[in-house]
Amino acid sequence: MGQITFANSYQQQGRGGFAYSPNYSYMYSGNRVTSVTEDKSAGDVWINRNETWDADDWKPGGDGYLTLLHEVGHALGLKHPFEGNHRVLTSLDSERYTVMSYTQATKTTLIEVQGNSGSYTGTSRRCVPAR
Ligand SMILES: [Zn+2]
Repeated sequence: MGQITFANSYQQQGRGGFAYSPNYSYMYSGNRVTSVTEDKSAGDVWINRNETWDADDWKPGGDGYLTLLHEVGHALGLKHPFEGNHRVLTSLDSERYTVMSYTQATKTTLIEVQGNSGSYTGTSRRCVPAR
């Protein structure tokens, strides 16, 4: 059976990471499978070192946490809901239903504001329900 390996590497900015899905090669003798070999990279999860991660990113709801869930999904063989022959309805292609979606669920941005009505700053982050 497979193994999931976690590592990081320098990747294109704006990308959280990537993963290799399970993939196997088969040897046959006639119609009979004589050996099965898993690709060496199958199940590898690579997190982008070029992103600026902080400790909060790895808490539930953080971008790092969601990236890890998404990439582990790929490592297990899950695909994006908007690709391939078996797509979900567009109305269901949302992070509300699957971490494999690229579409952020509506009404899930939390904006924290500091200051007063004359001078304020704000930071936004995604908000996901506790599971
Ligand atoms: Zn993906």
